[in-house]
Amino acid sequence: MSRLTRRNFLQVSAGLAAFSGIAGTPKEAGASPGKEALATLIDCTRCDGCVDHDVPLCVAACRERALNRIPDPVDPIPPLFPRGMIEDWSKRKDVYDRLTPYTQLFIQRADVPVDGGIRTVYLPRRCMHCDNPPCATLCPFTANHKYPDGSVVIDPDLCFGGAKCRSVCPWNIPQRQSGIGIYLEIMPTLAGNGVMFKCDLCHDRLLNQQLPLCVEACPRDAMVIGLRRDIMKEAERRAAETGGYLYGLTENGGTGTIYLSPVPFEEINKVVEKGPGRPHFDKVSRRPARASLMETSVLMSPVIGMGAGLTAAMLAVRNRVKKKGEGENDD
Ligand code: SF4
Ligand code: SF4
Ligand code: SF4
Repeated sequence: MSRLTRRNFLQVSAGLAAFSGIAGTPKEAGASPGKEALATLIDCTRCDGCVDHDVPLCVAACRERALNRIPDPVDPIPPLFPRGMIEDWSKRKDVYDRLTPYTQLFIQRADVPVDGGIRTVYLPRRCMHCDNPPCATLCPFTANHKYPDGSVVIDPDLCFGGAKCRSVCPWNIPQRQSGIGIYLEIMPTLAGNGVMFKCDLCHDRLLNQQLPLCVEACPRDAMVIGLRRDIMKEAERRAAETGGYLYGLTENGGTGTIYLSPVPFEEINKVVEKGPGRPHFDKVSRRPARASLMETSVLMSPVIGMGAGLTAAMLAVRNRVKKKGEGENDD
C-alpha cells in the first residue's frame, strides 16, 4: 500500500491546516509517497529562533540525524596532491552558527532597521531544494539527484567530495567532510576530498510517510511541508494577509522552499552575516544550466568520462567490500 492516506496527508499538512483554517475540511491528497512534488513554507513571522534553548530545536533534531549518518574520518586524513584543502569538521561538531556537514540547518539572525527601531527576524537556513538544481545537473559523478518528491539528495556512497555542487549552488550550500567516502578507496590523494553534505529534506522519512525532523521538532509550526501546489497557495495567502514578503518562488528558477518574512529580503540581505556556510538572501536569477549544458558537457567531458570510470570502479569496490562483510559475517 503505497498511497499517502488521508491521515498521513493530515500529518504532513498538520501545521498548514491548523494555520490556514482548513483543519476540519481536510482534502484527500491523492498522492503517493515519493511521487508528488512537495514544498516547504518557512514562516519567519512565527520562528522565534528558539532563543530560550541552547540549540534551536529544529537544528538539534537535524544535527542528531547527521551525527548518526556521518562516519568518523580516517586519522590522519591523507594530504592532497598537488593542492587541495582538507575540511575536517569532525572536531568541531558543535558549530551551530553556520552550515557544516553536521549542521545542515542553522538559524540566521537579521536585525533589520524598521521605523527607527530594530526588527529581529530568525531565518532557518538549509538547502532550497531548487526546481532545476545545478548542483545535481552538474555533478561529475552523478552522485546528486532531484527526486519526484522535490528533494535534492547527495548519495554519500557515490560522492567524491570535489565540491562542484557547492561552487555551482547560488547559495554555496553543500559542505565537505574530508577523510571519509569512496575517494579513500580509489585515489586518496588525487581525486576528491571527502563527501559533501546538505539537507536532503529527510528524504528517507518522507518515503516512510514521516515528517522531516526539523518540521516535527518546531514547537511554533514555523515550518510546514505539503503538496507543492498547496504550499505555494498558502505562501501567497499568508503574504497577502500579513503584508509579508516571499523568497524562493522565482530564485534560481524556482525552489521548493519558500520563506515568508515580515520585512523585505533586500533589507534582510543587507544585515545578515554572509560568507562560507552563511548564505545570502540576494535575488538569484535562474542560472542558464540548460543553455550552457552543451558547453559544460564539452568542457567537462574528460571529467565526466573519468567520473563514469570511477563510478564503475567505486561500485566494484563497494561490491567487494559488501561481499567481504558478508563473508566476515558468515564466519
Ligand atoms: S540550494 Fe544549492 S544545494 Fe540546494 S538544490 Fe539548490 S543548487 Fe542544490
Ligand atoms: S529536512 Fe531533515 S535534513 Fe533537512 S534541515 Fe530538516 S531535519 Fe535537516
Ligand atoms: S523553526 Fe521552530 S524550532 Fe526552529 S528555531 Fe524557529 S521556532 Fe525554533
